[in-house]
Amino acid sequence: MSTAQPSVSPPANLLSPAERKQQLIRDIKALKKERNAVILAHLYERIEVQDVADYHGDSLGLSQLAASTDAEVIVFCGVHFMAETAKLLSPAKTVYLANPNAGCPMADMITREELVQFKAENPGLPVVAYVNTAADVKAEADYCCTSANAVEVVAFAAKETGSNRILFVPDKHLGAYVQSQLPQVELICWEGFCPTHLRMNPDDVIKLKKEYPDAEILVHPECDQPMKDMADFIGSTTAIVKRAKESKARTFIVCTEDGVSQRLSQDCPEKLFFTPTRASAVCPNMKLTRLENIYKSLLGQNEEITIPEEVAEKARHCIDSMMRVAGSKGGPVMAGKHG
Ligand code: SF4
Repeated sequence: MSTAQPSVSPPANLLSPAERKQQLIRDIKALKKERNAVILAHLYERIEVQDVADYHGDSLGLSQLAASTDAEVIVFCGVHFMAETAKLLSPAKTVYLANPNAGCPMADMITREELVQFKAENPGLPVVAYVNTAADVKAEADYCCTSANAVEVVAFAAKETGSNRILFVPDKHLGAYVQSQLPQVELICWEGFCPTHLRMNPDDVIKLKKEYPDAEILVHPECDQPMKDMADFIGSTTAIVKRAKESKARTFIVCTEDGVSQRLSQDCPEKLFFTPTRASAVCPNMKLTRLENIYKSLLGQNEEITIPEEVAEKARHCIDSMMRVAGSKGGPVMAGKHG
């Protein structure tokens, strides 16, 4: 682990909280340049974290972007599996998860051992793993997918392997959405779920819709069926952002983590965005990262992400299999850049 020297700043006790924040942002920018680093932030992160990042977007888009830059250091503001994915795609780079305590409860709902057992109970069936999985789980899967391309990847896996039965891990709600789109394939889903998306409540959507009858309802596929049944549009975080920006509608009920509504409110001030069940539609893990964590990572004070090579090689194969789904609408997902 390399340790950089902090930039010289005025004594913190002489500054107001707002001045301290501005100073921290300046220090982050200077240190980032010094270390040839890139800061990536998921759209569910705090807005001040997204604002200091070079790019914001969804997990795979950010990882692909990290692999294509010439930065030597990647600071990932997100949860653990995202930083692991960045490391898998950029093995020669130094990767930090800005807050090492930020995990994903859904990813933790399946372990490598549980997947091995699931496969033994369903011998010979191809496995599609959502990107929200640990590297050693990906290493046991055949294909990886995101919420943007899950339908295409499952269809591709069924065609490539000649199997009309597919094991899908870990999100049963994303699996149910894929199943609704591909009735010709039987998905056998793991019982995982995202606690944040499941806290969203159809009654709150109905209340908002009564107040704003012209509002478009945009729903993430990690939500459960009653939420999806109300949707005008179902899509990944990136697809929801794109739809909201391109739509002629002026008001939107955005049924995913609250960070997306906040991002959209900032990017499209002429439109109105509401998150149903706002107080609970917050992923506590995504909100763990603060500016101080980014600074600490840039100083080299966090542990680097490391993945044993035998696991990394197999997990990379799983991710590469997704890349073969060429031309699908869920191909590489793009992240926005901050100037
Ligand atoms: S929003 Fe859900 S899937 Fe995303 S990191 Fe949080 S718990 Fe995991």
